[in-house]
Amino acid sequence: MKLHEYQSKDLLASFGVPVPGGRVTTDPAEAKSIADEFGGKVVVKAQVLMGGRGKAGGVKLFSDSQSAADFTKELIGKRLVSIQNPAGMIVEQVLVAEQVDIAEEYYLSVLLDRAEQKLVVMISKEGGMEIEEVAETNPDAIVRLHVDPAWGLGDFEIRDAVQKANIPAPAQRQMVSMIKQLVKAYLASDADLIEINPVALTPEGKLLAADAKVSIDENALFRHKQFDETKEDAAEDEIEAEASRQGIAYVRLGGEIGIMGNGAGLVMCSLDEVNKAGGKPANFLDVGGGAKAERVQQCVNLILMDPNVKGLLINIFGGITRCDEVAKGILGAFDAMDINIPVVARIEGTAAKEGLEILAGSDRIVGATTMQEAAAKIVELAHKN
Ligand code: GDP
Ligand code: MN
Repeated sequence: MKLHEYQSKDLLASFGVPVPGGRVTTDPAEAKSIADEFGGKVVVKAQVLMGGRGKAGGVKLFSDSQSAADFTKELIGKRLVSIQNPAGMIVEQVLVAEQVDIAEEYYLSVLLDRAEQKLVVMISKEGGMEIEEVAETNPDAIVRLHVDPAWGLGDFEIRDAVQKANIPAPAQRQMVSMIKQLVKAYLASDADLIEINPVALTPEGKLLAADAKVSIDENALFRHKQFDETKEDAAEDEIEAEASRQGIAYVRLGGEIGIMGNGAGLVMCSLDEVNKAGGKPANFLDVGGGAKAERVQQCVNLILMDPNVKGLLINIFGGITRCDEVAKGILGAFDAMDINIPVVARIEGTAAKEGLEILAGSDRIVGATTMQEAAAKIVELAHKN
């Protein structure tokens, strides 16, 4: 689960990482009063969970509080679009932060290196820009320091890595401390990523985290109740956020074939079959057991929130749940909805025959018995549409 920049900075500050002062707000008037606390010299930053906010126009420096308030007014409710997130995200709140004078920008992150089965600290003198870009154009500028799971990091190792990264001498000690604080924060918070880009070096020679991105391992959230309230708005995608509010497992994938199945494994197979049939899945969605009309309706509504969806594939295996019950649920849901895209339903398992007979009574749903047949049909119908 990704944390917003302001939450990430609060978390890191509690581990001793120096961060610029600031507060989050949704209100231009409050933005003005926060800016006034810093003498008007602030940076206003859209709090959206996507990369490249700067380039997307979501980060701006000001020298007076009124302009900061005006920009806040302009940003709230606006959709920001970046290369990393072409669908874009609506800005709901902004961080008004003390503006840092930046002489140099560095890059620092902690993440899991799965191949090495260790945490890795990545350090680069080339901060400010996307690290992927640095990795491509100047790979030697990134120094990787693996953390031994038993011993942790020795100061000498960190100093060595910081020197290798060519961080200038006066900033080295602060960089070493920051790395220790980040690793500590990572482990204590069950993070799966901490990234500071840029680490700002001021003309006075002080290091500060001018941006921060922390992501927490969702499987460990039960250990960190303090993040409960932020869970809802943590989704990177509006449909995913809505799904999470409704307690439905949904992942947006960007294709044109909407998919709904019962059981994660079956849904995964459906994604594969749609791919094989030449289509692109729009989403993962597990409708869960039972598939009652109301639940089916909720799920179909979610899928249709995605304007790219040109066809819907329903793939249900009836085990304990009888297929005729499921078929009634599907029909019940569709009777109450206005859907103008093709729908193919494959149902198999207990009372499948009865289920298919029920579906045959509908002119809006095409029945199928195998996954392959269903995938081929929906791809064909969707592409014809
Ligand atoms: P991102 O684009 O989403 O990564 O947002 P950042 O918070 O990293 O801001 C983008 C860029 O804006 C940074 O790389 C800095 O160059 C600049 N920036 C952000 N905050 C400040 C600040 O306090 N002072 C100055 N001078 N520049 C800033
Ligand atoms: Mn950044």
